[in-house]
Amino acid sequence: MNNERMVERLVKAGALRTPAVIEAMRAVDRKEFVPGGWGAYADSPQHIGYGQTISAPHMVAIMTEALRLGQGMKVLEIGTGSGYQAAIIAKIVDPGIVYTVERVSQLREFAEENIRRMAIENVRLFVGDGSCGLPEYAPYDRIIVTCAAPSAPPPLKEQLKDGGMLLIPIGPLGYQDLMEITRIGDRFEERNLGGCVFVPLRGEFGYR
Ligand code: SAH
Repeated sequence: MNNERMVERLVKAGALRTPAVIEAMRAVDRKEFVPGGWGAYADSPQHIGYGQTISAPHMVAIMTEALRLGQGMKVLEIGTGSGYQAAIIAKIVDPGIVYTVERVSQLREFAEENIRRMAIENVRLFVGDGSCGLPEYAPYDRIIVTCAAPSAPPPLKEQLKDGGMLLIPIGPLGYQDLMEITRIGDRFEERNLGGCVFVPLRGEFGYR
């Protein structure tokens, strides 16, 4: 198994269909983001330490497709983890910027090393409570949350541009719905993209 074959499988399964997303997942080798490289190409989450996981490849594919990214977009990610999802988004939006917030400082270091090794320059990494967003650089075209929230944190909705989209797993621990929330002026339109399972979003607007 290698990264190319992993991507081919996702295309065949229908999880990947947009050329720019396929190209980005080809360019970013998942093995570089999994400690020791173990199980890097299996379609399952893998442990990255501190009780956290890198999401399964099909979930990264589905979420990246759902974001409908374009070049030059400003994107906020909550839950940097290994940096894999951020690296893929960065490839697609370049020269746009990905801002990513992680609460575990050791994981921020891990992610930064991984992203640097890939020579990706348009990711800015922060340590903090991402449930409050990152108001300093708002508003964002897209906000992606890669951990499960009890409900959509109000600060994340506020930090969206008009026409911007928040992609977030919402629901109890153990099973959530992947929600697409689009801002239209001061109105928010919600769409349920289906079931998923993520580790919890902690912090002020997450699980305590
Ligand atoms: N996107 C990651 C996977 C992230 S797993 C990847 O591609 O590898 C979810 C991450 O969210 C974990 O690393 C966890 O520490 C982080 N997290 C949980 N609550 C958070 C919060 N309030 N702010 C920022 N990060 C948080």
